[in-house]
Amino acid sequence: MPKKEADYIWLDGRIVPWEEAKISVASECALRGANVFEGVRAYWNADEEELYVFKWEEHARRLFRSAAIMRLASPFSGPELLQASIDLIRANGFRVNVHFRPVLYFGEGEDLAWEPGRMTTGAFIIALPRPHRPGVSQGIRAGVSTWRRISDTSMPPRVKAGANYHNSRFASVEAGLAGYDAPILLNDRGKVAESSGACLFIVRDGVAITPATTEDILESITRATLVGLFRDELGVAVQEREVDRTELYVADEAFVCGSGWEITPVVSIDHYQLGDGRPGPLTRRIQQLYFSICEGRVPKYRHWLTPVYQPARVG
Ligand code: PMP
Repeated sequence: MPKKEADYIWLDGRIVPWEEAKISVASECALRGANVFEGVRAYWNADEEELYVFKWEEHARRLFRSAAIMRLASPFSGPELLQASIDLIRANGFRVNVHFRPVLYFGEGEDLAWEPGRMTTGAFIIALPRPHRPGVSQGIRAGVSTWRRISDTSMPPRVKAGANYHNSRFASVEAGLAGYDAPILLNDRGKVAESSGACLFIVRDGVAITPATTEDILESITRATLVGLFRDELGVAVQEREVDRTELYVADEAFVCGSGWEITPVVSIDHYQLGDGRPGPLTRRIQQLYFSICEGRVPKYRHWLTPVYQPARVG
């Protein structure tokens, strides 16, 4: 058993002890990974003794878009899920950085499996402490995967569905076996898509470049945030476009980004060293700005944050 890091889980409207948070093995969720979810972060500000949820509104919007494409009717509203998340984090008493996952799932009904209108649905939320990984400061080594990214024509990456992560699993396991810290997946046209649970930026000649949202990537909230911050705060030009594999090898800098991965510098790709082999200067600058904002230290962007411990009631 892995070490238990949280006492409680929120399941279908109730906070229950971790051990009692169970759904049926006969559910479409368990059998086929039929669920949609979000990975959201909350950042602890020790000076204010406050935990700030980052960009909840954007996560709620994406969750309900994923559900709509799946034709999954959520039994809970966005404000209800926010309140539930806050209640859960408070019940667990976290006073550190947190990662939490609100999940909407299809329930039981083998004979109804392809009739979403008649399926039962439910929701659960798992919240865990999640400090920065060492790679955030040290950087990671990435390799281009032999697995291709799932495609909008078959298994749309725009939908953040549990089952999509089989693709991420293949690529991550392969990357680990090959001695890399993370994979980079090409899409079915052979252009760069993203990593297994994060989007990708490269820097070339002072320009930040990232695959467009039509390149079979998740419409990442961190990616969109950084596109804006590069332009508005750092005066750096951004290109959202097709990226060739060999552009990765001649990049001055690269990093992956996501709620979970935050901003993690990539120091080599397929053993090609990027820059001087250390996290690049622009990567460092955007990291510093991003974490300041997440922790509530930049007044201009406080409206992106929702406090957990002293909130107005939601909804
Ligand atoms: N791509 C994939 C496949 C992911 O799982 C994630 C993490 N949710 C991301 C990108 C980054 O998305 P976000 O910035 O919204 O967390």
